Amino acid sequence: MPRPVQQHSDVLVIGSGAAGLSLALRLADTHSISLISKGPLLDGCTLWAQGGIAAVLDPADSVCAHIKDTLDAGAGLCNSDVVRHVVEQSAACIHWLIARGVPFTSGQYSDGRDGYHLTREGGHSHRRIIHAADATGQAVETTLGEQVRRHSNIRIFERHNALDLITAHASDNVPHRCLGAYVLDRDSGHVGVFRARQIVLATGGASKVYLYTSNPDSASGDGIAMGWRAGCRVADLEFNQFHPTCLYHPKAKSFLITEAIRGEGGQLRLADGHRFMDRFDPRGELAPRDIVARAIDHEMKRTGADCVYLDISHKPISFIKAHFPTVYERCLAFGHDLSRESIPVVPAAHYTCGGLVTNIHGGTDVEGLYAIGEVASTGLHGANRMASNSLLECLVFAKSASEHIRDQHRPLPGPLPEWDESRVTDSDEEVVVSHNWDELRRFMWDYVGIVRTTKRLQRAKNRVDLLQREIQEYYGNFRVTSDLLELRNLAQVAELIIRSALLRRESRGLHYTLDYPEADATSAALHTVLTP
Ligand SMILES: Cc1cc2nc3c(=O)[nH]c(=O)nc-3n(C[C@H](O)[C@H](O)[C@H](O)COP(=O)(O)OP(=O)(O)OC[C@H]3O[C@@H](n4cnc5c(N)ncnc54)[C@H](O)[C@@H]3O)c2cc1C
Repeated sequence: MPRPVQQHSDVLVIGSGAAGLSLALRLADTHSISLISKGPLLDGCTLWAQGGIAAVLDPADSVCAHIKDTLDAGAGLCNSDVVRHVVEQSAACIHWLIARGVPFTSGQYSDGRDGYHLTREGGHSHRRIIHAADATGQAVETTLGEQVRRHSNIRIFERHNALDLITAHASDNVPHRCLGAYVLDRDSGHVGVFRARQIVLATGGASKVYLYTSNPDSASGDGIAMGWRAGCRVADLEFNQFHPTCLYHPKAKSFLITEAIRGEGGQLRLADGHRFMDRFDPRGELAPRDIVARAIDHEMKRTGADCVYLDISHKPISFIKAHFPTVYERCLAFGHDLSRESIPVVPAAHYTCGGLVTNIHGGTDVEGLYAIGEVASTGLHGANRMASNSLLECLVFAKSASEHIRDQHRPLPGPLPEWDESRVTDSDEEVVVSHNWDELRRFMWDYVGIVRTTKRLQRAKNRVDLLQREIQEYYGNFRVTSDLLELRNLAQVAELIIRSALLRRESRGLHYTLDYPEADATSAALHTVLTP
């Protein structure tokens, strides 16, 4: 029987959000690229990002101020070299996007010069969020996506799930290295081999591990799980950011209400109209997200309410429509007029601060394997991500990794072993997958959510151990599907999150536990690092 053709390219990019698209474009003039996305090309969290991208653009702002704000938010766990690297690159990366044609909203800087409109978000001491109205991610994703489609050196594989990385173990003088990936074509059901000189994980985060999330379905932690299975360390996975304000509506599927609304004077209120944020933080509604999310969680539990309310109706309708057109229209479609009334909101899982440990070039523990964007733990966010620093991180690490890749000269691996499907059959019990999927996400929400205890974490650990055994058995016996792959990855990442949370015996940044409600002042802040 003829051997199936194996795809090969200089660089294999897994994921087509801001990180994957920008890296592909930066390298495509000199390297052949295979770009795979498990959904359509325009997919992932990037498409949904509303608020914008943090960058030092205004003359009244400074690199030092942006660094200080990021370090303050990170609660002692940011890597200051990485923070400096990212902030110093911020303006260059924005100008790269502008040169590519991203239509940012124009405005005036504080010295009266024409430039771009900058908003302010929680934790930022200056207006420094450049944006395209309230659909920044869509503007970035569609602009870069169109250019990727037109580039003759980029081959795009949509509806293709990377399911595992292919590595070669270390031998004399040769380190443990990555050679490619097994990839499921969702339409044919065939698992193919993609080999490359360098492999880049740009698969986004894992917030789908929680029942309520602002993230699209793609955020199932695939890259974190694949990297872990391939031998990469993970760090700081206990720091899960919950966005304070998602629209509370049974059909809205956690539609996110941008933080910029609070930046422009939006007020949080209880059902009786009283404001409450001042009781929790002197910065009120502009306190960092974790404080706002915990305050809302606290008030909802205290009053037994299903939600709280966000009110920007004191602003003129023209202002609301100009600044928040997407949110305005979307809320209207659900029967809430932002210009006339307050809207019901609840917190939801939003961002995975931890991930695969990388260096300043995006390189992981496995040679030839990079991780950029939300999948990575670069040291930028520490214990808490500051708003709008994440798209910036995608852009900066796409740049750094592409420069590093350009300097490396690795050989193209020869043909790799095919995926072995000989022993498996089609599943006759899909219900197992959907049941486990629901169960996992519910206990993660209930036991590993905004407020944690050791007992609840232990309970979650017992559950996830059981689920993993069941999933592994299922995985070994049946043909893989996208749902099964995602479930397996979610369970893996859930286990890593719980183990990380159990190891942190203090409250810091986004990790809050009733058993240790204060930060540990007896020793320096430490990262939680797990080694496979
Ligand atoms: C509603 C919302 C609003 C946000 N607003 C902002 C904001 O204003 N500013 C900001 O800085 N950040 C914001 N964020 C966070 C930010 O959008 C994300 O951190 C960022 O977009 C992540 O980009 P990424 O390229 O790492 O991953 P993503 O954009 O999530 O892309 C991941 C890609 O990987 C693909 N993929 C995943 N697994 C596989 C696999 N196994 N095989 C093949 N492909 C795979 C997906 O299909 C997708 O193409 C927001 C997030 C959300 C959800």
